[in-house]
Amino acid sequence: MTLALLAFLFAEPDWTSIERHAVDLLQRYVRIQSVNPPADAREAAALFEAELKQGGLEPRRFVSQPETGKVNLVVRLPGRDRSKKPLLLLNHFDVVPVDRAAWGSIDPFGGEIKDGAIWGRGTLDMKGIGIMHLVALTTLKRAGITPSRDIVMLTTPDEETNGTYGVVWMAQNHFPEIDAEYVLDEGGMGTRDVFSPGKLVFGVAVGEKQVAWIRVRAKGTAGHGSQPIPDNANERLISALARALDAPARGRVHPVVDEMRRSLGGALASNKYVNAIQKNTLSLTTLRAGVGEPLKANVIPSAAEATIDCRLLPGVNAEEFVSEMRARINDPNVTVELISTPNDPGASNHKTPLFEAISRAILRYHPSATVTPIIVPHGTDSVKLRMRGLTAYGLTPMVLDLATAGTMHSDQERIPVEEFKKGLRIMFDVLRSEF
Ligand SMILES: [Zn+2]
Repeated sequence: MTLALLAFLFAEPDWTSIERHAVDLLQRYVRIQSVNPPADAREAAALFEAELKQGGLEPRRFVSQPETGKVNLVVRLPGRDRSKKPLLLLNHFDVVPVDRAAWGSIDPFGGEIKDGAIWGRGTLDMKGIGIMHLVALTTLKRAGITPSRDIVMLTTPDEETNGTYGVVWMAQNHFPEIDAEYVLDEGGMGTRDVFSPGKLVFGVAVGEKQVAWIRVRAKGTAGHGSQPIPDNANERLISALARALDAPARGRVHPVVDEMRRSLGGALASNKYVNAIQKNTLSLTTLRAGVGEPLKANVIPSAAEATIDCRLLPGVNAEEFVSEMRARINDPNVTVELISTPNDPGASNHKTPLFEAISRAILRYHPSATVTPIIVPHGTDSVKLRMRGLTAYGLTPMVLDLATAGTMHSDQERIPVEEFKKGLRIMFDVLRSEF
C-alpha cells in the first residue's frame, strides 16, 4: 500500500471546525435574498467564489443574462482517473418568494438558529445541500484527497423557473463544462414517517414524473338561465371531467416502485406523497366559465374549460394518455389537448458503483436505515440532464420529519442543524469513495 493511499484512507478532517464553518456559511448564504424572480445570483455567486478560492479551487462564471445577474458558477476538482467522465454536483442559488406575514417572528432571510434548526428561505431548497456540496469539495481539496474521478459543481441561478438560464442554458451553450457520467441533485430524503411507518428509509431519487398539463374545453349553446337546455357547456364539462378523472390505474408496476416495495418489505405508507410516486395522477386545477364581470348567474355560457395537472410515471406515453382520456370522455363537443411538453428520459439506473457508495455512506451514519431508489412526484433540474444521457440521483442526505420537509416552498422553512452536519459528512464520504 502506498503512502498516498494510506493517507487517503486515514485522513480524517477536523470535523468540529469544518461543521462550525459550514453552519456559519449556510447562515450567510440564507441572508442573501436570491429570490426568483428576479433570480439575481451575483451576491450568492460571490460568496461561493470567495469560499472556493480560499479552498484552493478556481470557480468560473458563465453569465446567461447579464442585465438581471443570472450567473452560473462552475468549479472542477480533478480526479485520479481522467478517462472517466466526472460526477456533477448540481445545486441552485435561487429560492422561491416568501409570504412574510406567515413567518411570524422569524425573519425568512435571517438565518437564525433556534430550536436546533437554521431557519430561512432556501435552507432546505436547496441552500443547505448547496453548502454540503461546496464544503465537501473544499474539504477534499484541503485534505489533499484526489477523488476517484473529476468532480464538477454547477450552481445555477434559476432552477425555480425551469432552468432556462441555468441548467438548460449551460447544457445548450457550455455542455463540455458540465458533461458528466453522474449527477447528484436535490430530491428524495431520509424519513421515518413518509415511506414506511416507523422505518428509517432513505429514498434516493432516480427519476421523476412527467408533467402533462391537459386543457379540457366544452362547447355548447348560450342561453337564458331560466330555460334549461341539454346543450349546456358547463354541464357538458362537468360530466366530461368526471369521466376524465376516473382514470383506471393500468399497466405493470414501474420497476423502481417494484424495487421500493421489495426493499421496504411490501409495506408502503399511504399518504399523498407515496401515493403519487406509485402511479399516474390527475389533479383538477382550474375551472373557467361564465359570462360578464361580475359573472352573470342567469346566462348559460357557450363554452367552459378546465385544466388537469397530470403527472405521469417514466415510460408512460403522454400522447397515448391524452388519447385514452379523449376516448373516456367520448364527446365530440369536448376537446382535450396537451398544453405542456412532457420530458421522458426514463429513470436512471440505480445499479451503479455510485449508488452503492451512496448507500454505504448513508449506512455509516444511519446503520438501521433502508436505502432505496424512488421516483419523485415533482420536477427537478435532473430531468434535463437525464435527457442528455447522464445518470442523475437526487440525494438529500438528511432525516427529516414530515412537518419539516413540508416547509419547503412554504412558511418557516428550516433545516435541523444536526442533520445538516451529518448530511455534510455523508456527502463527503460519497465524494471520496471509489465509483
Ligand atoms: Zn430546489
